Amino acid sequence: MTEKKRAVRYYATEEGCGRVRGILRAHGVEATVSVGKDGRFEIHAQSATTRHTCHWPVCDKEVPPAMWGCKTHWFSLPKRLQDRIWATYRPVQEITKTPSSEYIAASREVQQWIAAQDQ
Ligand SMILES: [Zn+2]
Repeated sequence: MTEKKRAVRYYATEEGCGRVRGILRAHGVEATVSVGKDGRFEIHAQSATTRHTCHWPVCDKEVPPAMWGCKTHWFSLPKRLQDRIWATYRPVQEITKTPSSEYIAASREVQQWIAAQDQ
């Protein structure tokens, strides 16, 4: 009996590299993504951008990788958005640089909410 997992997978192809690069860029990480000799992704973040900073636009406070942003900005988000981020956040994603698509969606919603506050 075989059971297929429905998780989205990115294959280590030229196209896959481009997708992973795009996801990283959406998170403000410039990295080189290539296919390694073993057929798996090789991701090298450029040293200057490996700092993990607050996701609030223009805030560049350094925060631990397990946190979305600095305390000031995190607590200025409405509870429902904090809950969405927590529900979709995978602590390993900051290391593997492969956030789930749910997290990216939640993250975009947060950015939209922030943009709306500026108006
Ligand atoms: Zn901040």
